[in-house]
Amino acid sequence: MKCRRCGDRAVVEVRRHHAAFCEDCFVRHVREQVRRAIESFDMLGDEDRVLVAVSGGKDSLALWDVLLDLGYRASGMYLGLGIGEYSERSGEVARRFAEARGAELIHVDLRQTYGYDIPTAGRKGGRSTCAVCGLSKRYVFNRVALEHGFDVVATGHNLDDEAAALLGNTLRWQTEYIARQSPALPAREGMVKKIKPLHRLSELETAAYALIRDIDYVVEECPLVAGNTQLRYKEALNQLESASPGTKGQFFLGFLGEVADRFRPEDPVELSPCERCGQPTPGTYCAFCRARARILGERLAAPSDAEVSAALSEEVLPAEIYTS
Ligand code: SF4
Ligand code: ZN
Repeated sequence: MKCRRCGDRAVVEVRRHHAAFCEDCFVRHVREQVRRAIESFDMLGDEDRVLVAVSGGKDSLALWDVLLDLGYRASGMYLGLGIGEYSERSGEVARRFAEARGAELIHVDLRQTYGYDIPTAGRKGGRSTCAVCGLSKRYVFNRVALEHGFDVVATGHNLDDEAAALLGNTLRWQTEYIARQSPALPAREGMVKKIKPLHRLSELETAAYALIRDIDYVVEECPLVAGNTQLRYKEALNQLESASPGTKGQFFLGFLGEVADRFRPEDPVELSPCERCGQPTPGTYCAFCRARARILGERLAAPSDAEVSAALSEEVLPAEIYTS
């Protein structure tokens, strides 16, 4: 197999592009895909400060690596979820990456700052562990970005993540979630812009990139992943992809190009500050404060436990749970 660009011996095959690349040309291919994503969705300006949500997995570290190499002002943030050795190793890997690249890493510990960890939340939160975990991540990343003056939060969702989320949302016709499945969600009052610059790259491509760039990352899955329904959709799509390479790309990138606009709501829901934390919410208290109160056994004045459960299932978007 020869590299499509330079004719040297290829080391990575990308079947959906009918292409193979040597190491150097593959790294250029990845950077080009990220650059294209950033341009197509007007994700980042040269002066923007971007906060990368770093989990310690291959995708978020690959994203941070590419953004730094493209010259962006990219800091990382690691959220300690308290999931035993998995979290300890993830935090360590993130710290070592930041040191090696001379980049800023912000570390927040969920238990120290908010009084609970994810295993406890899974037992007491009334919803799946991954749903509470996703809600906690989105909330904390947004708050930290606001408090530290970042313009954008970037997450490492890749093509496989996005296609699996779209499949899940489509199978259940969750049109509100489908409407939010954009690689760039603009800033709103109290919410920073969110971007997914890896959405044109498959999981195999980000894994190959991390290997070639010698990025040390946590290979093991989170031990709580069994409850993550996205895995089933990923498996189904992997089967389709292996029979017809390109299926995932046609499904998700085709959705973005052809139909996504039809799902956009004309009037976004009105938001006002949460009475407990000040973050924007359509209700009296935000979903995070309601979930946290439930986990800690506190009572907020307004909603019942049933309302908390309903809010969690409404507001947790599978698309935004990252498991890398
Ligand atoms: Fe959180 Fe991902 Fe683990 Fe679920 S699998 S608990 S979302 S880190
Ligand atoms: Zn709140």
